[in-house]
Amino acid sequence: MATTLATPERPLRVAIVGAGPSGFYAAAALLKEEGYKVTVDMYDRLVAPHGLVRYGVAPDHQNIKAVAKTYDRTAADPGFRYFGNVEFGKQITHEDLHRHYDAIFYATGAQSDRRLGVPGEDLPNSLSATEFVAWYNGHPDFRDLNPDLSCEAAIVVGVGNVAMDVARILAKSVDELKATDITDYALEALAKSSIKDIYIVARRGPAQVKFTNAEVREFGHLALADPIVLDSELRLDRASSASIEGDTSMQKNLDYLRAYVEIGNTGKPRRVHFRFLLSPVEIIGEDGKIVAVKMERNQLRAVAGGDIIAGGTGQYETIPAGMILRSVGYKGSPLPGVPYDTRKGTIPNELGRVIDPASDKTVRGEYVVGWAKRGPTGVIGTNKPDSIESVNSMFEDLQKGKLHGCEDPNPDAAVALLQERGVRYVTADEWRKIDAYEVNSGKPQGRPRIKLVKADEMLDVLK
Ligand SMILES: Cc1cc2nc3c(=O)[nH]c(=O)nc-3n(C[C@H](O)[C@H](O)[C@H](O)COP(=O)(O)OP(=O)(O)OC[C@H]3O[C@@H](n4cnc5c(N)ncnc54)[C@H](O)[C@@H]3O)c2cc1C
Repeated sequence: MATTLATPERPLRVAIVGAGPSGFYAAAALLKEEGYKVTVDMYDRLVAPHGLVRYGVAPDHQNIKAVAKTYDRTAADPGFRYFGNVEFGKQITHEDLHRHYDAIFYATGAQSDRRLGVPGEDLPNSLSATEFVAWYNGHPDFRDLNPDLSCEAAIVVGVGNVAMDVARILAKSVDELKATDITDYALEALAKSSIKDIYIVARRGPAQVKFTNAEVREFGHLALADPIVLDSELRLDRASSASIEGDTSMQKNLDYLRAYVEIGNTGKPRRVHFRFLLSPVEIIGEDGKIVAVKMERNQLRAVAGGDIIAGGTGQYETIPAGMILRSVGYKGSPLPGVPYDTRKGTIPNELGRVIDPASDKTVRGEYVVGWAKRGPTGVIGTNKPDSIESVNSMFEDLQKGKLHGCEDPNPDAAVALLQERGVRYVTADEWRKIDAYEVNSGKPQGRPRIKLVKADEMLDVLK
């Protein structure tokens, strides 16, 4: 080894910014690497760790949220420290981390969303699915979103699993949701919802959907809602048929959709309409409220390289609705002092090594993982090999002597810095207390937990 770093006398000091899945998978890989002594300090702008596992994954999918237990095991490692309620770029800077750590991993996810770019998009109740999801999941930044559920129809634009999540939450009964960890205020608002028709609208056809089998299957088992599919919209053009040949998962999606055509409307009070080959072109408002969305009908075209793209036909359809939720993709937000690719919405990198686009060279000691690295693709598990790849790049750099020891590696110095600045950071032990409080509060009601939302409420538990 070309360095004395990562030894018991001088452990390698690593900062991870972001406590979502990718941050935890990176921490686990760093801490268990044999032959190296590494300590990890993880920072998150929120009090609660776990990123989108807590604030994105649907509350009625508790089996998926259970992955957090794996992260808790990593957090219990003696080489791991957690600093929640500390935002990179505000309470702690790029410069600070370089002074106190030998390597930095950015695991900040993709915090913003893509827009439709159509007139009327800024009307109230035109929201991103991210905002709506964050609201019902108790993300402190979205506590006061107050979506208006007094309308009769909502349109969800997009056919990924997030679109399916928001449509399902709107379609489910209170009884179906009350045993989950959905926030009380969201449950109360959903109990009063007047929404009866939910349209899931796809730009392309049923052979191009992004949702998975389990997600579409659930719509056949809802207490209050029928899934409605038009037979005419399930007919595939030749290129689409060819593109899904041998794709059993896509065939299964189509089987579910065909079954929904057969079942039809059984008279349940709510309906979830799957609509294809439509693009919103205008969100129509009256007196400052959404009343309808104008859609252009699309047709598909196979292009060089095998892609099948949608193009407008000049024919239009208007769907009356009072709410629109766009779920057309996420993108990252730039971090102060860190390179950023505006077009891709990610931190430029090569196998996880951050690249400075100005010089096209790697930035010494800086790495990226997860959605901040590759964009918003894949499931939670996809982040594990992705984080391991970046960690391997770092160990390779360490072996080649490309990591230089930081100026002030004393673990107490990083803590002193936060204290001097009056930052009320939350430690792993403190998070465990908040977590236990939430879980215990849920027990009498048979719920997995009752979430605390604002940082102050969480800090009160610690008093
Ligand atoms: C609505 C939704 C539902 C999903 N459901 C599923 C599902 O059911 N199953 C599945 O497998 N996958 C699901 N996914 C995908 C999964 O959540 C992602 O693959 C995963 O969370 C990405 O991990 P990450 O660590 O890159 O980002 P994130 O989970 O977003 O974590 C990023 C963390 O960085 C923190 N952060 C950001 N900026 C800063 C800063 N400046 N300073 C400090 N901290 C910062 C954030 O607070 C956050 O905790 C879902 C995604 C969404 C959006």
